Amino acid sequence: MPAKQTQQKRLSIGIVGGGIGGVALAVALSRHQHLDVQLFEAAPQFSEIGAGVSFGPNAVKAIQLLGLEASYQCIADASPAPFEDVWFEWRRGKDDTYLTASLAPGVGQSSVHRADFLGAIVANLPEGIAHFGKRCIDVKQDADSATASFDDGTHFTGDVIIGFDGIKSAVRPHVLPPEQYGEITPFWSGTYAYRGMIPTRDLETALEAKGSEKRLALVPQMYLGKDRHILTFPVKQSQLVNVVAFITDRSVPSPKLPEGEEWVQAVSQQEMLAVFESWSPACQAILECIPEPTRWALHELPELARYHRGRVLIVGDAAHALVPHQGAGAGQALEDAYVLASLLADTSRQNVETVLSAFEQVRHGRTCKVQRTSHEAGDVYEYSGKNIGADETKLIDNLEKRFDWLWNHDPHDDVMAAQRIVALAI
Ligand SMILES: Cc1cc2nc3c(=O)[nH]c(=O)nc-3n(C[C@H](O)[C@H](O)[C@H](O)COP(=O)(O)OP(=O)(O)OC[C@H]3O[C@@H](n4cnc5c(N)ncnc54)[C@H](O)[C@@H]3O)c2cc1C
Repeated sequence: MPAKQTQQKRLSIGIVGGGIGGVALAVALSRHQHLDVQLFEAAPQFSEIGAGVSFGPNAVKAIQLLGLEASYQCIADASPAPFEDVWFEWRRGKDDTYLTASLAPGVGQSSVHRADFLGAIVANLPEGIAHFGKRCIDVKQDADSATASFDDGTHFTGDVIIGFDGIKSAVRPHVLPPEQYGEITPFWSGTYAYRGMIPTRDLETALEAKGSEKRLALVPQMYLGKDRHILTFPVKQSQLVNVVAFITDRSVPSPKLPEGEEWVQAVSQQEMLAVFESWSPACQAILECIPEPTRWALHELPELARYHRGRVLIVGDAAHALVPHQGAGAGQALEDAYVLASLLADTSRQNVETVLSAFEQVRHGRTCKVQRTSHEAGDVYEYSGKNIGADETKLIDNLEKRFDWLWNHDPHDDVMAAQRIVALAI
């Protein structure tokens, strides 16, 4: 029991949302006997899409601190020797010319298949904590407790409610009431992402048939061009290559998604090939290996004024959804999970609101900066970066340095900073 725990009743924490972030938080909290942790997921079971997710060194650090490293290492991919430290190689999409590489010493490109990763961390969750078919529709709180209501007519009342329920969060309107903060809705970034997975052998054969190097299949690549870029990295112990091909509408400042259009759609291969028609042989080889792409309209949130209200907190994509151009969204969710679990494990019931406020104070600036720079990264990759444009010397300089501040971050420093805030406040 922590020294500050003064009451008999266990601190009870309800987590809404069982994605990567919510499950990681539940696992970390459930290691503490003095906490009562319940996880509520809308879906009938834990589920993730069959695509890849890439982690920077900060995210890998958060995974280690969360005690999930062993689960992660069983399924993680790494760049093959001698490219172990390469996060991505950057190339000109028109002709495959090598521009530079972003290096993450000791980590390289640490990527996983999403469903495998979620499965690996779920395996650490004790029985009886997760509840499925629980779609949160409302949150309320009073001086002593907070209550989440679900669409099956049930409720959970506890000391704290954490909204880890993604970009369309149902907890967010309670934290930021529309009558005070206006209607906060995700907005389209202007970018569509075509996604697909290719068996590595097939891609190697296709690359060689186009006269391209076979190693481009397994060494992570980014192919850059005006208003478009393509990324590839291996997953599933290098059996598959994850592909995302982006196109952005910059014709107007705030492009609107056509009324009623679904965020995710199955589209034809011809549509995707037409977008990259004049691109390099390697890019053609990659896209020709994806017969049935899906197209994602990438949405993000504006930077929010706050993440907590009283005993209710939003984290992960619910609080700071962003575009994936720095491979950072899941990493931020994992950092949130570690920092929050560390703080909640060491608090008494009467200090809960102070702790959530301290969490917000230490995390808000960083997560907003990750949102902002993720959007800017898309501009940089697509020859539209401010003061960079199509100047490849400046582009290379930016790519070699832009991840340093993001990756060189120890989430334990956030814990200590928040603990200092709490100590001064109580
Ligand atoms: C194309 C693309 C590529 C990406 N690539 C990367 C990458 O390489 N690296 C990276 O770090 N990030 C990447 N991201 C971002 C990353 O996927 C997200 O930031 C991350 O999944 C957020 O995790 P989360 O747990 O906060 O939310 P989510 O993963 O969205 O999980 C939310 C969970 O809450 C549940 N839920 C939703 N509403 C309710 C409700 N009302 N009640 C109960 N449960 C609810 C959902 O079913 C879901 O299980 C990418 C995103 C996209 C779109």
